[in-house]
Amino acid sequence: MRILIVEDDKDLNRQLNDALTQAGYVVDRTYDGEEGHFLGDTEPYDAVVLDLGLPKLDGLSVLEKWRRGGRTMPVLILTARDRWSDKVAGIDAGADDYVAKPFHMEEVLARVRALVRRAAGHASNEIEVGDLRLDLRSGRVTVAGLQVKLTSHEYRLLAYLLHHKGKVISRTELVEHLYDQDFDRDSNTVEVFVGRLRKKLGGDYIETVRGLGYRIGEPS
Ligand code: CA
Repeated sequence: MRILIVEDDKDLNRQLNDALTQAGYVVDRTYDGEEGHFLGDTEPYDAVVLDLGLPKLDGLSVLEKWRRGGRTMPVLILTARDRWSDKVAGIDAGADDYVAKPFHMEEVLARVRALVRRAAGHASNEIEVGDLRLDLRSGRVTVAGLQVKLTSHEYRLLAYLLHHKGKVISRTELVEHLYDQDFDRDSNTVEVFVGRLRKKLGGDYIETVRGLGYRIGEPS
């Protein structure tokens, strides 16, 4: 799942990046509202972490422009602790949730996790397909109770497919959500990772739908 961070505080931006990357997300980040707006307008993000006080274009305006333009990705805003009016204005502008600064990184991670999974239509932090189970809190993948060790690329691929289980996902969509904007996107690599995942998971969880893409479901 691909996340955009728009935060002008360099340290905080880096900490958010490190924590989200560590948690298995692909992260793009920027430090001003103008570029933030552009990225959110042109790239398909699964969630955005948006500061309100930003240079060039403030966070509320960024959010309003996205929503007016029909962009529906979940947005978590970062607000000042004592500014309740910011929270109200943010929610009214189309934010899905907020965290007040200073925050514990665990809280941001939990809220992003919830936004991403709810946007994909999942009520719980565990996604299951047959004997295959992904625990979104720990990032633990098990098959029939046995843990499967995955590389970060394999994990991202599996997490994206599982968030959209039962649906056919095109290679293009996978590439867009598995790699950040600077990655050299060669869609053949998706096939390689699907092959490795199939080996590690055993069973036919990932189906190739010819000419369309991949679908994860119960093995037949
Ligand atoms: Ca700021």
